[in-house]
Amino acid sequence: MPDVKDAPSPNHDERPAPPDMIVLHYTGMQTGAAALDRLRDPASKVSSHYLVEEDGAIFRLVDEDQRAWHAGVSEWAGQQALNDCSVGIEIVNPGHEWGYRAFPEAQMRAVEGLVSDIIRRRAIRLERVLGHADIAPTRKEDPGELFDWRRLAVAGLAIWPDAADEAEAGRLLDPEGYATLARALAACGYGLDDFQATLTAFRRRFRPSSLAGVPVMRDLLIAREIAARWPARLGGAPAA
Ligand SMILES: [Zn+2]
Repeated sequence: MPDVKDAPSPNHDERPAPPDMIVLHYTGMQTGAAALDRLRDPASKVSSHYLVEEDGAIFRLVDEDQRAWHAGVSEWAGQQALNDCSVGIEIVNPGHEWGYRAFPEAQMRAVEGLVSDIIRRRAIRLERVLGHADIAPTRKEDPGELFDWRRLAVAGLAIWPDAADEAEAGRLLDPEGYATLARALAACGYGLDDFQATLTAFRRRFRPSSLAGVPVMRDLLIAREIAARWPARLGGAPAA
């Protein structure tokens, strides 16, 4: 276990089962101290299991065996209310509202150490290390396009499809291609209440330099590769 400071939050309750998912967030507040206060304030009714400061300090707010209140209305692989099954990690960053900025090296190293430890202890599948935007694409943008998911994958802590590293394939998809892409995104695990919101969340992860714009062949190639290599399975159950 990395070096962790206890900063208990009362905002938790019982889980139905041990966690099998990790959800990464940014705090989206002006300072880390303000975020820590809010996540520990009984009136806020929000919390996370961990908070990682920009200098790499890690705080534990809620025991992993308890349910923290970080995900809200959420969906992945057909499962909802993902506080039930996830460990939530808040990464200090002002976010899109207060001046979104790069995640410092010391903070990234701390996140990697923490995620690595949780994955190892709980045998969490790499495709179930997710961003808040992935599981709530119509409401959330965090941890956002500046978070280096490729780096996490290189460290063996997340997925990264080869297709995301290849040259742009800018060919536009026709309406049939949209439907094919929607099916591929669903096979990755994404909810599809709002196709454009889901596509944007997907691009924050895998095409962070191309956030806007209509669906292109590159999106489909990435989604198909993920669905083939890391198909979403309810509860992260091992492959048959
Ligand atoms: Zn969040």
